Amino acid sequence: MTPSSVSPPASALPDPLLAPLLQGQRRAIAKAITLLESTRPDHRIRADALLNQVLPHTGRSLRLGISGVPGVGKSTFIEALGLELVARGHKLAVLAIDPSSSLSGGSILGDKTRMEQLAAHPSAFIRPSPASGTLGGVAAKTRETLLLVEAAGFDVVIVETVGVGQSETAVASMTDLFVLLQLPHAGDDLQAMKRGVMELADMVLINKADIDPDAAAQAQAQIMAALGLTHAPDATLVLCLSALQKQGVHAFWEQVQEFEKRRRLDGRFDQRRQQQAQAWMWDLVRDQLLADFRHHPAVREHLAQTEAAVLQGQVTPSAAARALLYLFEKPTD
Ligand code: GDP
Repeated sequence: MTPSSVSPPASALPDPLLAPLLQGQRRAIAKAITLLESTRPDHRIRADALLNQVLPHTGRSLRLGISGVPGVGKSTFIEALGLELVARGHKLAVLAIDPSSSLSGGSILGDKTRMEQLAAHPSAFIRPSPASGTLGGVAAKTRETLLLVEAAGFDVVIVETVGVGQSETAVASMTDLFVLLQLPHAGDDLQAMKRGVMELADMVLINKADIDPDAAAQAQAQIMAALGLTHAPDATLVLCLSALQKQGVHAFWEQVQEFEKRRRLDGRFDQRRQQQAQAWMWDLVRDQLLADFRHHPAVREHLAQTEAAVLQGQVTPSAAARALLYLFEKPTD
């Protein structure tokens, strides 16, 4: 086993950021997020210790995932919903997962003009997507940020993502309720819709219903039919709304509360979080093992030639994998 795979013992002393973080001080939250987004090994060690210390203070928010293609109205919707929530006394954090942000320099939430009013509200905290590397890496940092903002007292956390790649799966796997925003006319072409993503959704919202209410109602019926939905209390809800005119936003929040109440009562709320925590642990184990594997000196020495041999059909993939794993597992002299 390489030293890098041995987890450092959590520091016994509370991190200086812990107290101000638990008090909800923005500077401390921002500093803590910077710490966990850092690639420096000493920062990672400190971030891990801090996360362990905040853990008892986490889990008390409602975690809402929101996805939809660019232009569907996510920021308009989050601003409308967010302003209603902060007016009712909630503290709202909005995080984002944008796997393309490392390439584009941040296409969602990076732009300060989005959610202007909400961003200026003292009870709201808006954080753009971490702009580092793979979806897995970005998602892991967002998950950790979610714990930090929960510890800082935010009782509703929205994790937003664009409808690209596997980012919806990542968001659904860290939230209590996953919402997909759709455009009215998307219903015309169900084949083109990402059925898998629809099935991931706990609620589907057809936004911009003000433009063409009939089209929105039709899309609603088509989506329900396509997903084989009924009007049973537990079926995926498909609602029409207008984020711009703030119509249906309140009704949506009522449904969210119903959903939470129902799932808390029947135990599925906690079950989902437990499964998510377990899956997250395995994700990290897989990621770390793979990183250790790739960094292992003997593996590194043989990796390129072994890959080439597999490409050229000189060795079977299974024999090559076994040979590399043997190098990885072999005790070093
Ligand atoms: P995002 O890329 O998903 O965050 O979408 P935005 O919230 O930036 O919205 C894209 C455009 O659609 C903006 O010009 C909004 O004003 C507009 N928009 C958003 N929601 C609605 C709506 O309910 N009705 C109408 N007519 N326009 C909307």
